[in-house]
Amino acid sequence: MQEDSISLFISDIHLSESRNDLVTAFFYFIDKIAPSADQLYILGDLFDFWAGDDIETPLTLSVAKHLSALADRGTEITFIPGNRDFALGRRYAKSAKMEIAPSEIILKQEGILLLHGDELCIDDHAYQRYKRWIRNPLILTLLRHLPKRYRLELAAKIKRKSGQSTARKIMDVNEHYTTQYFHKRGVSQMIHGHTHRPAIHHHGNEQYRYVLSDWDITGDYLKLEEGKITRHQFKIADFQSLS
Ligand code: MN
Repeated sequence: MQEDSISLFISDIHLSESRNDLVTAFFYFIDKIAPSADQLYILGDLFDFWAGDDIETPLTLSVAKHLSALADRGTEITFIPGNRDFALGRRYAKSAKMEIAPSEIILKQEGILLLHGDELCIDDHAYQRYKRWIRNPLILTLLRHLPKRYRLELAAKIKRKSGQSTARKIMDVNEHYTTQYFHKRGVSQMIHGHTHRPAIHHHGNEQYRYVLSDWDITGDYLKLEEGKITRHQFKIADFQSLS
């Protein structure tokens, strides 16, 4: 990464057909704000659910259109899968002109670890058990071969279940485990989403953990420029009149 390059980070947009306001805000962000950046990192849960690359909807097509236009203008787009859209595959990524990253990326020069964040929530035993099962490559391959109707039913079920757990709130990260994680990865900063608890946490001496907001009533993005991270918050409703 060059010295003067600009990177933007977003997560947990949870795009869906039922939230036109989020779609409008997201397209404004992609069309008007993101082109100023060299890199855009989407840290998971871009979509509220993903039942397969072969299930095209007006929403998935228009998201791909806006993202690929951004890539054509010169912004590199990298997607880290979230717990809602982990099934998003190469075919869709290609149509959106974005790279699918593994579950973690380290920006070496700045010592920043990027991740969705669910892997830090180790106290949610039921979720971690489910994750191990559903993210098993064999299971994933099996799921991808199920008829569309079944996959849509399954996605709705996963969404309902995770909706219930949002009602009892997504569990936060395990602090001790997360502090160890900084050492394990040899980084001084982390950027993640998932918990829907925007904040900056201090771990140990000089370690900082930036938590992105989900997009709901408000949203945010982080900007990395000349080694400094800044947060930019906005009201989703503010975008409606602009577009
Ligand atoms: Mn999530």
